[in-house]
Amino acid sequence: MQFKDLGLDNRLLRKIDHMGFKAPTDIQSQAIPVGIAGKDLLASSKTGSGKTLAFLMPAMQRMYRSKPFTRRDPRVVILTPTRELAKQVYAELKALASGTPYTFCLVLGGENFNDQVKELRNKDPMFVVATPGRLADHLEHRSLVLDGLEMLILDEADRMLDLGFKDQLERINAAANHRRRQTMMFSATLDHQQVNEIAADMLNMPKRISVGQSNEQHQDIEQQFILCDHLDHKEAILDHLLESEDHQQVIIFTATRADTERLTEKLNKDKRKAVALSGGMNQTARNNIMSQFERHVHKVLVTTDVASRGLDISAVSHVINFDMPKHAEEYVHRVGRTGRAGNKGKAFSLVGPKDWWSFKNIEAFLQQTISFDAIEGLGGKFKGLKPKQTRKPQAKKPTTAAKKQKDADNTKSTSVKRRDKTFYKTVAVGDSVFMPKKRKPETNSDS
Ligand code: ADP
Ligand code: MG
Repeated sequence: MQFKDLGLDNRLLRKIDHMGFKAPTDIQSQAIPVGIAGKDLLASSKTGSGKTLAFLMPAMQRMYRSKPFTRRDPRVVILTPTRELAKQVYAELKALASGTPYTFCLVLGGENFNDQVKELRNKDPMFVVATPGRLADHLEHRSLVLDGLEMLILDEADRMLDLGFKDQLERINAAANHRRRQTMMFSATLDHQQVNEIAADMLNMPKRISVGQSNEQHQDIEQQFILCDHLDHKEAILDHLLESEDHQQVIIFTATRADTERLTEKLNKDKRKAVALSGGMNQTARNNIMSQFERHVHKVLVTTDVASRGLDISAVSHVINFDMPKHAEEYVHRVGRTGRAGNKGKAFSLVGPKDWWSFKNIEAFLQQTISFDAIEGLGGKFKGLKPKQTRKPQAKKPTTAAKKQKDADNTKSTSVKRRDKTFYKTVAVGDSVFMPKKRKPETNSDS
């Protein structure tokens, strides 16, 4: 398949050629024609497979080929869960749109609201790339109107829901709720109950494209798991990995913001050129850290799941999960910071007693029995935990009020279930079943 077979405008083809892309990736081959045809789309493919261009090209094509609905409203809105990812998508959009008269704005939480109001007013951008909380604030403030919105794109939709942006997404959806709007959702992991629910609300008879399965082994990422007894043991193993692995740049994921600081301090004492990035930092600090890391000022980025999604830094040769992620999908996204666009990468996961149940979740999600690797001279005692015994609650005879409530709930769940049939997948793992659970939102600071 070639880019010229996808129905793209010649001006776009020249642009892609100029940017040095030779042939479309699988997701691009499949998603671009659907996007160009104006259809709603729910698309997933592995990390690093070029999803950004798969949605930016149809968006650009629309600018080239069709007239706007209104004179001043944005025509395309792209939402991402984190500010860093929004900036990256914005940079890719700018590259694709360079030399065209198209206008764009980046609207992020953590930056001056009034400056954004002025910029939106002065520019009347055709494209807005935003984090959902701040975009919803602008809608409320009427500094942005979406009556003329033609395309709504949600990158990493599942993560936005995990971060508690459901309400904001619903408000954005309602503000641009007209029949001619096209909506597209992209992620490497879309088998998520809340995604199905929101997709049923936001998408109109979507085409579903999955290139591979989200739990499939990524061929370009060598993945190893190492058992650890305690924090000191993890640190010793980390030292060993940084010493013995031939690495360019490394991203280390920890469980909490405090851990990023502590570990960074320790690594810098050992002259590892590390820097911490977490959602609690102010935006200027976050911007500086990311731009320095991209310019290789630092070799090691120690972070939380704020950096698990979307970031595309080609020199990241290694990912180390110093702590395992709570959500199994985040494992797929974290390791996907390496091995991008056909490059090879390595990922190491350190599994201690506190990580055990997260690890078991990941194992179930990946539908694999994972074996552990040992490092000579650094073996430990920990070999895993036994399954917890759960007592079955005794069934009580329902009271009349409880029975009424149950009947009401059942009515609700039937309709949800019917909707779910379209998208929702359950994955059998041996004789148990992996079901993405409804989750409490995590704290998000990226509004
Ligand atoms: P994803 O969103 O699927 O994780 P990205 O859109 O971030 O992946 O793309 C990953 C990398 O692949 C980027 O550096 C991007 O420039 C590059 N890329 C995108 N499309 C192509 C292509 N057709 N050929 C080669 N590289 C590509
Ligand atoms: Mg992406």
